[in-house]
Amino acid sequence: MKYKPANHIQDLQYFGEFGGVNPSISDSSTYTFLSAKTMFDTFEGNADGCYLYSRHSSPSNLYLGEALAAMEGTETANVAASGMGAITSTLLQLCMAGDHVVSSRTIYGGTYAFLKNFAPRLNITTSFVDITKPEAVEAAVTKNTKVLYCESVSNPLLEVADIEALSKIAKKHNLTLVVDNTFSPLSITPKELGADVIIHSLTKFINGSSDTVGGVTCGSQNFINSLRSVNDGANMLLGPTMDSLRSASILKNMRTLHIRMKQHSNNAMYLAQKFEEDGLRTVYPGLPSHPSHELFKRMMNPDYGFGGMLTIDVGTLDKANELMELMQNENLGYLAVSLGFYKTLFSAPGSSTSSEIPLEEQKEMGLTDGLIRFSIGLDNDIERTYQRMKACMEKVEILALQEN
Ligand SMILES: *Cc1c(COP(=O)(O)O)cnc(C)c1O
Repeated sequence: MKYKPANHIQDLQYFGEFGGVNPSISDSSTYTFLSAKTMFDTFEGNADGCYLYSRHSSPSNLYLGEALAAMEGTETANVAASGMGAITSTLLQLCMAGDHVVSSRTIYGGTYAFLKNFAPRLNITTSFVDITKPEAVEAAVTKNTKVLYCESVSNPLLEVADIEALSKIAKKHNLTLVVDNTFSPLSITPKELGADVIIHSLTKFINGSSDTVGGVTCGSQNFINSLRSVNDGANMLLGPTMDSLRSASILKNMRTLHIRMKQHSNNAMYLAQKFEEDGLRTVYPGLPSHPSHELFKRMMNPDYGFGGMLTIDVGTLDKANELMELMQNENLGYLAVSLGFYKTLFSAPGSSTSSEIPLEEQKEMGLTDGLIRFSIGLDNDIERTYQRMKACMEKVEILALQEN
């Protein structure tokens, strides 16, 4: 039986302070205590249900965290002000000076830059590996390795991690398997496949409105408590705290996530099939030509499809830029980074979101100049969208180019 993430989100019941159907927003940074003793206990971490200070936790953030934990099937979760706020706090909680991380080499540019350039300042080092090769992953593990890090579907190359196989390696070597599931909310439930900690950038599909950044770490009660510890908790001490007004707004957007993901996936599948038929080099996990198509199928919760992200390769950066500018002029979407919006977003990752990755390494991992990453929108009439995109491709001679 596959996990039913949307059911778990929908089954949560909220009563606002005045009986409202939405939880009341906690618009306070600090909280009163009726007795001094309870304040002391709360600092010691022993007063359940008491709030201390909003960098530690707040009712609104806990509501959103519980919805995300329900989605991912973890005991609990801690929301953060951004995806990077969740990722860096989680990694710094898990790693001490001298520790080592084994990470997929195809990860979000910011995460890559953090592990490659920033973490070494704290004497935390990382080996970047081809995550689709479990032997290579295991070979990179050293006696100092603490964390195995990957994205379930990677940015921007849409490589799929075999979370079950990685989890076996993690258990064997006593590592914490951390999975960034930003590209595949609802579709993939990493916890069910053996992941220990699941992270999202809420900025993308989960919020879906491109009006805020946000992040979350989902995990065991023990781990989340450690992140919040007043003595040595990375979230508590580094302070990437989400504001209550914003978490209330993300919680409301989350209620339509299942409907949106289905539409993103249906639209992306339609376009991916058409683009491939037209002879464009198309990468989409829903296509049988994708090297991890069968793996994705095995892992997925089938109701939500293969996600809203696809890439095409149009040969050169000039062609990519020409096409993207034209598509924006034709109102087919925005030339913008990020994903999960109601309109289609497109960008050339090599010169934008993955520009942190040195050119040499981009080449090695197959990140070509002419690559365009699409986050497919919620278009009601995807056939019309396709016809209009095709007209743009013909105009900039991309389709003709491919036929030669
Ligand atoms: C955007 C993104 C992040 C970073 O999230 P922010 O909310 O921008 O800090 C991390 N991982 C993935 C896969 C992303 O797409």
